[in-house]
Amino acid sequence: MGVGKSKMEAGALRKILELETQRDYADTAVFGGLDKYLANWAAKAAEEIASPADLRRFKALFKESYAAMTMERRQEWAEEVLAYLDESEGKPVKARPPEKKPAPVKKPAPRVRKTATPDDKALDTPVTAAKGISTALAGKFGKLGVKTVRDLLYFFPHRHLDYSQLKTISQLVAGQEQTIVANVWQAQEARPGGRRSTEAIVGDATGNIRVIWFNQPYLARTLKTNTRIVLSGRVSLFRGQHVFQSPEWETVEGQDAAHTGRLVPVYPLTAGLRPRQVRKLMKDFIDLWAPRLPEFLPKKLRKRLGLLELSGAIAQAHYPEDAVAKDRARIRLAFDELFLLQLGVMSKKRDWQQGRPGTALDVKAPVLERFVASLPFRLTAAQSRVLKEIMADLARPVPMSRLLQGEVGSGKTVVATAALLAAAGSGCQSAFMAPTEILAEQHFQTIRALLAALGEESGEGYLRTYAGILDRPLSVALLIGDIRAAAKKELRQQIAAGGIDIVIGTHALVQKGVDFARLGLAVVDEQHRFGVEQRSALREKGFSPHMLVMTATPIPRTLALTLYGDLDLSVIDALPPGRQEIKTRWLRPDQRASAYAFIRKQVAEGRQAFILCPLVEESEAVMAQAATAEYERLSREVFPDLRLGLVHGRLASKDKDAVMGQFRDGALDILVATPVIEVGIDIPNATVMLIESADRFGLSQLHQFRGRVGRGQAQSYCMLLAEEPSDVGRERLDIIENTQDGFKLAEADLKMRGPGEFFGTRQSGLPDLRMARISDVAILELARREATGLFEVDPHLKKPEHRALSGELARVWTGAGEWS
Ligand code: ADP
Ligand code: MG
Repeated sequence: MGVGKSKMEAGALRKILELETQRDYADTAVFGGLDKYLANWAAKAAEEIASPADLRRFKALFKESYAAMTMERRQEWAEEVLAYLDESEGKPVKARPPEKKPAPVKKPAPRVRKTATPDDKALDTPVTAAKGISTALAGKFGKLGVKTVRDLLYFFPHRHLDYSQLKTISQLVAGQEQTIVANVWQAQEARPGGRRSTEAIVGDATGNIRVIWFNQPYLARTLKTNTRIVLSGRVSLFRGQHVFQSPEWETVEGQDAAHTGRLVPVYPLTAGLRPRQVRKLMKDFIDLWAPRLPEFLPKKLRKRLGLLELSGAIAQAHYPEDAVAKDRARIRLAFDELFLLQLGVMSKKRDWQQGRPGTALDVKAPVLERFVASLPFRLTAAQSRVLKEIMADLARPVPMSRLLQGEVGSGKTVVATAALLAAAGSGCQSAFMAPTEILAEQHFQTIRALLAALGEESGEGYLRTYAGILDRPLSVALLIGDIRAAAKKELRQQIAAGGIDIVIGTHALVQKGVDFARLGLAVVDEQHRFGVEQRSALREKGFSPHMLVMTATPIPRTLALTLYGDLDLSVIDALPPGRQEIKTRWLRPDQRASAYAFIRKQVAEGRQAFILCPLVEESEAVMAQAATAEYERLSREVFPDLRLGLVHGRLASKDKDAVMGQFRDGALDILVATPVIEVGIDIPNATVMLIESADRFGLSQLHQFRGRVGRGQAQSYCMLLAEEPSDVGRERLDIIENTQDGFKLAEADLKMRGPGEFFGTRQSGLPDLRMARISDVAILELARREATGLFEVDPHLKKPEHRALSGELARVWTGAGEWS
């Protein structure tokens, strides 16, 4: 069977059979019995089967009446059909002989289930199926990524307000998260440290307290005097006074949640969704729908680990009975995420390595030795070790699948170049893929320079040839959108004819019509932009090249193994000798002016600077807006005589590349950027990184930003600004000021990081992590252990008790990328 419609229908049949399995083959999965459905299904599916032999087998499979079968036969038959579906979808390549199961233990007569019937199909219908959700409302939910009933069940509150523990203002303690109900006395725009914010005074019967919301000047107008509001957040001490810092808040009206004395969910909202409306709606919705969610974890495993049942966990995640229930719900749901993630990556790895044999490359040692000898420096011990690991992989007939982690500037590119050269030496082509065109170009220049030291370079523009490196000319091409169409066409032809050894470009290399004659190695820079999907794309083109994936994000090992369990791990854990330290200073808000003066001085010396705008939680759009405002302010009020540029996530990538290009070429002095600033960008002349609201970033992120400078010979500086950091924020700033080692920082980050993502999974093609926290090391390890154990006994999740799990796995991963 092919794609599209029939695949969907195969999916429907699969769901039905899975439901039958859950219901002990009682012929109840389809209203009125399965036979009629099956006949219809088979007639449609048969039309798409081309080979007569396949058709015969197919027909044999669908000739019996399900209703007439014994329970044992039904089980056997359902498994045969499921296996058939797997095969025809091309899952395992190996033909599985129809397993003759021992006759199942005699099943009791079909039981009537106590819970409402699991209803997978209904869960996948649009949210409008739920009571009280109009099309207009559905549109608003759609903006938050909530499309189906199931999405809404998994639309978790980002926190709860604990009305069971309300405090009065006089009871507040600094350094803790607390909740109060108070009246607004006054609210006005304020400019602490020059940034537009809102400051308010609120009070209750016991006293008053100051509240400040940074970067939210518009609140001043929303908060009218005498409004009753509930505030929840951290209280800190400022000049001896208690202050609420950017707390969550909402207005309190009449008989409100505040009077229920319980944990009340606070949902992430978008324009046009009102908190109270959503809360009310969710309560009814959860009561009705959560019980319909089928369990997918095998019962034994769930019992053994003491995990809540899924429907209960979902209900408690929204409206917990108490803090303990909320915690248990989170543990169950976090376990699900990490467990499915782990099972998924393990399956990927198996498919990648067993799907098709790889090509063992005939690595020519002398070529490598000459390359290493030609370098203007000695490889570090870490580089040599990693290079050896890679070469050993390349020489094996199993496709390499390796993640190379190494700090910014640790010398990954050199190692990758050696691998590209090894592939060329063995007569294979290779592709080097970067996340953006500008980075691709940068790599092309670096690789050219490295090869030019080894052999004689000729050619110009996008195609260079080297004599004297191999026993034939070695050619290297850059393939990016910038190239004239005619030149591009010719490059493509040459690549297809096998005339080019090394091709450098973006992911377009694997996605759009570039055909290699014999692709032996693919190197991917910056894994988190690039991932599972690209690897699948390559495989779909009929290649199973060796893959080397490089990242500068220092991911703690436990986490790396889970996120990238499909990759072997190599780490360059030391920087080349003689690297200068980037001087890092945490400045007080009143030192902003001197920070600007410092930038000015560096620019006068011919250097360049980055100014990184604050992370704004609301959205990319708000962040772009804030950055634009900051850019305008700086251009007008602070650096009117200097050349400033702006990049943010809302710019088209063409425009972004253009600005980055100007900065790289020295046409700009200062680049104002949102935190989306390109990873891996290499501008040796940039010596200053100024980070606004630095306390709001994770340690690893701060370290990444800092790594944008210090790439040349000149002393470089990182300046951190923070208005009124929380205790955790202070601790982080302290650590980053005194630590240069990215791995140490990542470990510290892992320990400190509360809810929220240490590492975005969205871009990588991995399923979302919503409940799992990076600090959940124990759950992480548990999930890994359980997944590994399960994989050992039932790698294809074919046992009846794993059917539901298998379905969930496919669902989760299909949503995220491609589940091949
Ligand atoms: P990464 O890609 O890991 O950020 P690069 O490969 O771009 O790092 O290397 C950063 C810089 O360090 C480059 O200028 C490179 O030539 C240099 N370099 C790499 N390896 C060494 C080494 N062993 N000794 C000295 N300099 C090195
Ligand atoms: Mg790099």
